[in-house]
Amino acid sequence: MNFNQIWVLVPFSIVIAIIAYLEIMMIYIFINPDEKEILLLILHHLLLLVVIYSFYKTSTTKPGTPTQTDTENNPLLTQRKTCKFCKHTKPMRCHHCRQCNKCILRMDHHCPWVNNCIGQNNYKYFFCLVFYATLTTIVYFGIYFNKILKNPPTGSIDTYFIIFSATLSFILMIILFLFLAFHTKLISHNQTTLEYFEKQREYYDKDVVSNFHDFLGPGCWLIPI
Ligand SMILES: [Zn+2]
Ligand SMILES: [Zn+2]
Repeated sequence: MNFNQIWVLVPFSIVIAIIAYLEIMMIYIFINPDEKEILLLILHHLLLLVVIYSFYKTSTTKPGTPTQTDTENNPLLTQRKTCKFCKHTKPMRCHHCRQCNKCILRMDHHCPWVNNCIGQNNYKYFFCLVFYATLTTIVYFGIYFNKILKNPPTGSIDTYFIIFSATLSFILMIILFLFLAFHTKLISHNQTTLEYFEKQREYYDKDVVSNFHDFLGPGCWLIPI
């Protein structure tokens, strides 16, 4: 394994470390949970399971690369450029990812946090991941904030850990919420992140429901299957 291969695993490892840390803290502060806390713990772990599953699917599902049929039967072929790396004509919305070193269908962006490209085939998993991770951090923050209100800091070492955990979950909650809002807005305009930064706005935009349908498929949009 060379230096570059180790480097790409750093963001991925940070995500795993944050999940592990918050989970250990959650077990620590609920050693003797009351009834309300048991319900919160169940809710938290159900959400966490969905987050881990969505993370796994986003990371391991191939985002989609063009096949011979994609490039030969595309009626808009003449409008597209040839990929200077792969040497084939790119279908509409296809971009070459330099990190993956291949063309990706309806490429959104390359995500270092899941160590994979986000494209046509794994966008739904990615969106579910952001959605459920946002919900999970809201629950985390609510639990820690409630704990601080019930037991104000006494100066012992564990209260500092709880304050640190509340701060960490608050920061994650804000970042994830903004990210979720950004991607919801993009989907509502039928636009990928790359198209947003290239200012291609109106090209694929239909009505909002059809736009969501294009990105999240025909099934339930928030079930990562
Ligand atoms: Zn290419
Ligand atoms: Zn990529």
